[in-house]
Amino acid sequence: MQLLFADQLGPHFDLGEEILLPEVKSQFSKRAYHRQKAHLILYALRARGQDKRVKLVELDSYRDLLADSRGVTRVINPTSYPFRRFSKKLSVEILPARGFASTEEDWDTYVSSFKRLRLEDFYRQQRTRLGILMQEYGPVEGRWNFDSENRLPPPPNGTGLKQPWFPMENEIDRAVRKELDALERQGVRFIGSDGPRRFAGSREEALAALNWFIDNRLDLFGPYEDAVDSRDWTMGHSLLSAPMNLGLLDPIEVARAAEKAYLEGKARIESVEAFVRQIIGWRDYVWHLYWHFGEDYVNSNALSAVQPIPASFTSLDGSEIRANCLKNTINSIAEYGWVHHIPRLMILGNHALQRGYNPRQMNDWFIDAFVDGTPWVMPANVIGMSLYADGGKMSTKPYAAGGSYLSKMTNYCGNCPLNPKVRVGENACPFTAGYWKFLDDNQQLRSNHRMSNAFAGLRRLSDLEELREQESGRSSF
Ligand code: SF4
Repeated sequence: MQLLFADQLGPHFDLGEEILLPEVKSQFSKRAYHRQKAHLILYALRARGQDKRVKLVELDSYRDLLADSRGVTRVINPTSYPFRRFSKKLSVEILPARGFASTEEDWDTYVSSFKRLRLEDFYRQQRTRLGILMQEYGPVEGRWNFDSENRLPPPPNGTGLKQPWFPMENEIDRAVRKELDALERQGVRFIGSDGPRRFAGSREEALAALNWFIDNRLDLFGPYEDAVDSRDWTMGHSLLSAPMNLGLLDPIEVARAAEKAYLEGKARIESVEAFVRQIIGWRDYVWHLYWHFGEDYVNSNALSAVQPIPASFTSLDGSEIRANCLKNTINSIAEYGWVHHIPRLMILGNHALQRGYNPRQMNDWFIDAFVDGTPWVMPANVIGMSLYADGGKMSTKPYAAGGSYLSKMTNYCGNCPLNPKVRVGENACPFTAGYWKFLDDNQQLRSNHRMSNAFAGLRRLSDLEELREQESGRSSF
């Protein structure tokens, strides 16, 4: 009998035998999860449990299986250090990990071929090996990367994108919601609101979401992928990360579907290439880095950032925040359990970097507050990319930015009581002021040649002392 974990729910994890599928609700008592995340996980388990080969069992803890393995003989290698340790203790056959577009051997080949880690090299190797968006002599259209075409700001009159696919709730949702209510009455704490469910939680739903995205939204995904529009919480994004991280879709089938749309002339190459880069490039890259950097990577803290993350984050309550971009982002997470990569990186990550929030706390918060958060996906994104806590293993410089970037790529500043151009005074933008304070606090970064312009700008500031005083006394944003 195969033991299936909660992120191995699609057909590519199914070995064709009887399946034991544990439902372990005690995990929700350990940390405050977003309620939509808890809902989606329970929904997905129960939807998978409808297959007659699947025995869905409620356990107090996975450890119960160590005393009685209930006939389990095989498991597919799970996706986190603790679960891999647990699987070894089970004394069952452990099959290689699945659910990604490359194997651990493919990664080893990549690492041995290049002197330093770089997404672009890994991604090109993936494209070549899988033959996705390739022609006889190289990439289709003669280019690997169309990023420069994909940086449009939110258009004043909207993007014209069609709505994403959303699920129709059913009796499983209703039962799950009642149980979560009961857990809350027993004292389990969730954050964020629950419902309606917006992410696919079964194989059928995941395929419907994929097909809808490919047919209706992929074409405009690329140009607006970095834009943030207060009127549209999804922009052109697929909302497939949550079902993919539950194992409901195989990334290769997702990338092939996008490639097919390009070959049939239904979606422009800029969008298809950007999407394929996320699915077989970035997603696999951060997965392999989780193992490559080791279990202690999450405790990296190169910038000695020790501030606790604020209550507005841990309670997902933006009501006290003045900064319109931050307020809207926190409120969106409360409502949906999801915002796309730019609010994650340039609003949440940038703010946390500037204010010195503890990287480990931020990493865990991202795992718990986002429907697609997993222990393997967040470290490279949060510890590495966003917070530079690894001292530069992931990025060549910190992703710190002032209000002018946010004013270009979002439409939040127009409705903000603060001004992205002002760094000192009543209406100073905390991102602009925070940017300069971050540089001044981290003078050790001067030796990074990619930061030389930034530090030259810092030296020209005439009001740095005033700015420092203002930001040191800041208690709200
Ligand atoms: Fe955010 Fe500053 Fe713009 Fe306000 S002015 S929305 S705080 S970037």
